[in-house]
Amino acid sequence: MRAETNKQATANEESLLRIFTVPEAPDSTLGRIEQEISQNLNGFLSEHLVAKEHKLSEIEKDFSDAQLPEEPQFVSDHTSFLLDKLVAQSVHTSSPSFIGHMTSALPYFMLPMSKIMIALNQNLVKIETSKAFTPLERQVLGMMHNLVYGGASSFYQEYMHSEQFSLGAFCSGGTIANVTALWVARNNLFKPSGNFKGVAQSGLYKALLHYGYKGAAVLVSERGHYSLAKSADLLGIGREDVIAIPTDANNRVDIDKLRSTAKQLRDNGIAILAMVGVAGTTETGNIDPLAEMAAVASEVGCHFHVDAAWGGSTLFSHKYASLLAGIELADSVTIDAHKQMYVPMGAGIVLFKDPSLAGHIEHHAEYVLRKGSKDLGSHTLEGSRPGMAMLVFASMNILGRKGYQLLIDRSIEQARYFAELINQQDDFELVSHPELCLLTYRYVPAPLKAILRSGNQVLISQVNEYLDDLTKYVQKRQREAGKSFVSRTRINPSIYQGQSITVFRVVLANPLTTQQILQDVLQEQRELAQTSQIALPMLMKMLAQWQAA
Ligand SMILES: *Cc1c(COP(=O)(O)O)cnc(C)c1O
Repeated sequence: MRAETNKQATANEESLLRIFTVPEAPDSTLGRIEQEISQNLNGFLSEHLVAKEHKLSEIEKDFSDAQLPEEPQFVSDHTSFLLDKLVAQSVHTSSPSFIGHMTSALPYFMLPMSKIMIALNQNLVKIETSKAFTPLERQVLGMMHNLVYGGASSFYQEYMHSEQFSLGAFCSGGTIANVTALWVARNNLFKPSGNFKGVAQSGLYKALLHYGYKGAAVLVSERGHYSLAKSADLLGIGREDVIAIPTDANNRVDIDKLRSTAKQLRDNGIAILAMVGVAGTTETGNIDPLAEMAAVASEVGCHFHVDAAWGGSTLFSHKYASLLAGIELADSVTIDAHKQMYVPMGAGIVLFKDPSLAGHIEHHAEYVLRKGSKDLGSHTLEGSRPGMAMLVFASMNILGRKGYQLLIDRSIEQARYFAELINQQDDFELVSHPELCLLTYRYVPAPLKAILRSGNQVLISQVNEYLDDLTKYVQKRQREAGKSFVSRTRINPSIYQGQSITVFRVVLANPLTTQQILQDVLQEQRELAQTSQIALPMLMKMLAQWQAA
């Protein structure tokens, strides 16, 4: 509440109504924050996101009161909680040295635009709560469909605004986009036939009985995102029925194994619900051979989905789009605008090559989503949804394809620079080469490299175990120190015969990350490694024994 003289704040009716109408005074605390974040967001974040060396358990103490607030509070009083507890202990995801995850900086205009979006508070589930936003969303889906499939303009004329068709669906993120794609695939596979009313109406058990299958499976490389397992769980086919196909040395699905596994499953009476190609794996950024996968899917006669949540935006770059060649053969494609399209979170997109595909998940109700209405909610998993399409549209116009190309090219080239830099160091090891702007590596004290190349598998695997501890140690210390951040994951590169090793994982999506920052990250990791009290001394002891032997 603004009127601080009125001590009862929102407890009386008159002041309660005022919080729906009276704007925040520019000189109030909240007003000042608002001004500062619109004029100098980076300055604000650098000042207020103090990298305290707090453990999560410490921070949780500030958030452990389950008491419902009984008395109203002044907005300004609440604001101090906001600044001191919430903002102060948040993660500086837009910092140029935060290079560990897919969440990074946003263009400045997203902030005021988001405010407009929230001010309008349109609900995209139905036309009655979102007039202009519904056609806008359909238009953005058309533009994204065009990016992937490059349809003729007459195609978009015909389908973009037709109530019976969908070029795709907006949703909160890649997870829901993947669920939606597999949901469509499932309902298409087990569609109504004869006296069977379809899986949507009658459930999976009756579907399998009717079609004469013992089960259904989804095939994806072992680098597939965990959201596919969640999807399988939700769709009633089981997490164990997401079959992980081995990958080659470049983390791409092994096509022969994909084909033979599909055949084997078929012979055992299992329906292939879908094959999923990954265009930009979450851990290493590699891209499956999409055209070859499409050919296998077509031999098998199953749905082909491409999970391009991360890598899909590469299509904006004329220089690198060919890395995703074959994506246009997919029946459905997931792209997250909140990753490499630099839109705030909550912007997932699934696209359907055939605009009638979404008919398999169509749902109608009486008071909304009536038959023949243009309500988007009849073809989406989610109900009430914000108008995120507005931000995607703004960004596509303000940056243009060329702007996106600059950003994408820059990120990929930055990753290549970093890979080269790592290769130049005696004491680092590049583990996965960047195909997109993602790479993995680790710190390996220089003399140990001789052991890793010795061919002695027993010894190598012991060394790798201690190197895992060292990598974990360095990554944690680096995160706690708060100057920079890289993430870590476990992968099984072919150079170590399939042994899983822990590696640093870097995502170079922030256009403000400089080469100097990357040099500093390595130097910091090198210095942190020297402070290791357990793993490093153990490794040195092993080295001495090996050299003596
Ligand atoms: C990020 C990602 C997802 C999940 O997307 P969310 O937006 O986090 O739900 C799925 N698949 C891939 C390949 C991803 O990179």
